[in-house]
Amino acid sequence: MNARRYKCPSCGAGLEFDSTLQEMKCPYCQSVFPVEDFLEVPADTGNQATDTDRFGMYRCETCGAEIIAEESTAATNCPYCSNPVILTGQVSGEWMPDYIIPFQLDKEAAKAALRKHLKGKKLLPKVFTTEHHLDEVKGVYVPFWLFDTTAEAGASYAMTKTRLWSDSHYEYTETSDFEAVRSGTIRFENIPADGARKMADDLMESLETFDFQSAVPFDPVYMAGYFADKYDVSAEENLDRITERIKTSAFDALLNTVQGYETVRQTNGTVRLRDTQIKYAMYPVWILNTTWRGQNYRFAMNGQTGKLVGDLPIDNFAYWKWRLLYGLGFAGVLYAAMWALGIL
Ligand SMILES: [Zn+2]
Ligand SMILES: [Zn+2]
Repeated sequence: MNARRYKCPSCGAGLEFDSTLQEMKCPYCQSVFPVEDFLEVPADTGNQATDTDRFGMYRCETCGAEIIAEESTAATNCPYCSNPVILTGQVSGEWMPDYIIPFQLDKEAAKAALRKHLKGKKLLPKVFTTEHHLDEVKGVYVPFWLFDTTAEAGASYAMTKTRLWSDSHYEYTETSDFEAVRSGTIRFENIPADGARKMADDLMESLETFDFQSAVPFDPVYMAGYFADKYDVSAEENLDRITERIKTSAFDALLNTVQGYETVRQTNGTVRLRDTQIKYAMYPVWILNTTWRGQNYRFAMNGQTGKLVGDLPIDNFAYWKWRLLYGLGFAGVLYAAMWALGIL
């Protein structure tokens, strides 16, 4: 398998895709070059190397070091010279993505988003909010399957309406029953499901939405300077999850047309999918990892929109301190009240 790098024409270092400029930039001599100059350029012999005898080992063309990569790795940095290395075999042929959304936000934006996310969270341990505590901030292209499909949905509903009135003797309640049938055709486009086993499905789903308008035909050049994995969860393995999501959305849409009742209950429903097409795309995600008291916490930021999601630890000490202060405040109020009432 080949390892590709994009050589800086000025100094020979490895170029990186710059999310702010949307151009290629050399981190050493700061030269900037248009992405177009590097699209689909077959790597010359100086830019590529075959893998060594063992699978998962590559030779860095910049410093000559041997790199060990995971089976799914498609883009990484050389751990010795930190130059970008792209394993082109992982993103070509049958593995070639159809589209990529190039990164639009950089590492500083990811750190700033996390700071903002943590700000004002009282129960967070102090050490957690200090920036140097971040173990890792990584720009990762996550493999996604995009589903286009048409849902033919139908459902029936049982509804009730209630009327209340009263006279001088009694209060009356009249409940009337209604039935409704709804059906419709809904087109869904670019419904994403991540194809990376190491990425939690719920974390990736909460990063949505990605704007497919900014997607471009795939080229490995956009991965220079970032990390990337090829998919290790197939589109078929995601089909049940996607079908469930689409069913839920379709039923929601039908339910929205049943208005003006006190209660609405769906009694029956079917969704049939047709004209399903599946695309393979790389979406930009910043991963921020941190450990606290032996526990790992992972945050993720949408590299296109800046939406940040993730879990937060609750510091027991901060929790008890907060409880204690709250308790003291309460006791203080009580004491003042008793004093005012002349009990003390
Ligand atoms: Zn340079
Ligand atoms: Zn190297």
